[in-house]
Amino acid sequence: MNEKENKDQLPTGLRRQKKELKEYIEKRDFSKTKEPKSGKQSTIDGKQIYCIQKHNASHLHWDLRLEFDGVLKSWAIPKEPPRIKGIKRLAIQTEDHPLNYANFEGEIPEGQYGGGKVEIWDKGIFTLVERKKDIIVIDIKAKKLNGEYCLIKTNYGSKPEKKLVILQKIRLISNISLISNRPFNFTKPI
Ligand code: MN
Repeated sequence: MNEKENKDQLPTGLRRQKKELKEYIEKRDFSKTKEPKSGKQSTIDGKQIYCIQKHNASHLHWDLRLEFDGVLKSWAIPKEPPRIKGIKRLAIQTEDHPLNYANFEGEIPEGQYGGGKVEIWDKGIFTLVERKKDIIVIDIKAKKLNGEYCLIKTNYGSKPEKKLVILQKIRLISNISLISNRPFNFTKPI
């Protein structure tokens, strides 16, 4: 079997995952870091994974990860994520991570991409409540973050590679004015 045939026989989900993890794989030297190289099955059967890792890299930040389309969509949050309703946090989209990254804790060696200590700060599941053009609403079930949160696209910053959103704990879905019925696109710049 040649490589092309082999590729064509991969299930659509896996093929997409391979493409989406390209940036993640290119940024890392897996002979030096213990971070997982590829994604496996969801660690929590039939539920979408939610995880936040506290990452003491060159700047301390929190990495929000949500399972969508077979990978962990990821955002870096410069301040501790909000547990109280109404508090907003800026979140900067980063490269997609493999699903089993949600289990990763440890020290990324100095000099490697993201060098520093990673610890799981919070972990659980979420369900999608609304997915619109500029807003997604999710219901998180975990220890630290619990309840409905929204991710709102912002107009901050002019660089297309900076995909900024606001993470906020919300009271009621009806408090948000939903802009259109087009699906929320994670990767397309604002
Ligand atoms: Mn990080």
